[in-house]
Amino acid sequence: MSNNKVALVTGGARGIGRAICCSLANDGFKIAINYNNSEKEALALKNELSAITEVEAFRCDVSDSVAVKGMFSEITQKLGRVNVLVNNAGVAEQALFTDITDEMWQRMINTNLSGAFYCSREALKGMINEKNGVIINIASMWGEVGASMEVHYSSAKAGLIGMTKALAKEVGLSGIRVNAVSPGVILTDMMNSFSESDKEALKEETPLNTLGTPEDIADAVSFLVSDKAKFITGQVLSVNGGFVI
Ligand code: NDP
Repeated sequence: MSNNKVALVTGGARGIGRAICCSLANDGFKIAINYNNSEKEALALKNELSAITEVEAFRCDVSDSVAVKGMFSEITQKLGRVNVLVNNAGVAEQALFTDITDEMWQRMINTNLSGAFYCSREALKGMINEKNGVIINIASMWGEVGASMEVHYSSAKAGLIGMTKALAKEVGLSGIRVNAVSPGVILTDMMNSFSESDKEALKEETPLNTLGTPEDIADAVSFLVSDKAKFITGQVLSVNGGFVI
């Protein structure tokens, strides 16, 4: 049953973003799937979800503020105002701190942090006018506690957590909630650079003795978007099997 509200999920064609699109579609939202490179996957998902809701796919590199503006006007034309924004698009990379180049640092910050800033700024224009809206930022446990060999990633995700808290304070009076979901190790393409034995070791380090699925994150997002979370803002919901407590 449609609730006639529009949810935009950045990086929605694959991995965690794809599961979030499916979950919010089942919750009755119209879905705007943002993708950058994964056009085939985005169109396949659009096709799949069109059986249950209104859905469109929008190509945009979220690290490009001009392109983000363009995407929002396209979404408004095709689906309506964005009521729910999930800033999920992200890149990860492992490198020794002293090997991180200016380009690597900028790509990391521009995609994971500035992308969320650009999208939130556009979404908030409509949300503040209407005095309602929900923003969810997909952070990472490494943004909470820091990861060796991932200092640029940890910095971007820690920044996203800071943005979540500060923005929640600023826009609460406008009826807008802002929260973060902070995943632990989730089995997606992002983990492809890890060997099977690395993954086994990460599993053993996890108190619940399992790695997470994209659906574990999508369930948390659905909850935080819903009215069941209407008194929750500025929080970081850690979904990590107990890896970081
Ligand atoms: P994937 O590598 O599977 O997917 C990354 C997604 O981000 C893709 O949909 C990709 O889109 C999108 N993306 C990357 N750069 C851009 C860009 N410039 N503009 C638009 N979209 C972009 O990763 P996950 O699904 O695992 O990760 C999703 C989020 O969850 C990320 O923010 C990640 O940091 C976070 N996370 C993941 C964890 C994990 O263990 N997997 C752990 C903690 C956090 P496209 O393919 O179209 O280019």
